[in-house]
Amino acid sequence: MDLITVKTFDSYFLANIILGRLQSEGIECYLKDEATVTMDPILTNAIGGIKLVVKKENAAEVTSILKRYDEEYLNAATCPQCGAHQFSYIAKPGITNFLTAIFTTLFANYAVATVYVYQCGQCGYESERLPGFGNFQNEEEDI
Ligand SMILES: [Zn+2]
Repeated sequence: MDLITVKTFDSYFLANIILGRLQSEGIECYLKDEATVTMDPILTNAIGGIKLVVKKENAAEVTSILKRYDEEYLNAATCPQCGAHQFSYIAKPGITNFLTAIFTTLFANYAVATVYVYQCGQCGYESERLPGFGNFQNEEEDI
């Protein structure tokens, strides 16, 4: 059986929520390296996180389901400024990226990650965290 990684997670919680949702839709899927990441979160980056793997023939279907989950997740958030449900996850434009580009050029060995924000499509409100949700992605910071 050929297995393909369709998504990686740093978070045990988010990985299991997604796994449970896919399994409830009848998709056969597994988490790889879950035990390693859970026991020693420091190894997360070294081994590439918890991997969601599916059968090769299901990869395309699962990818589109995951895309639907992302859209549902974004649409469920309410903008605290205007009340719209139109968030998208974007690379932050402007001076930050301009400086990032310079620093990355000058100090290539210390590559700086692009800043991503959630932005309201209606009023332009920006937040590093999706409003109204616990932040699964960063829970390791609280440990
Ligand atoms: Zn808004």
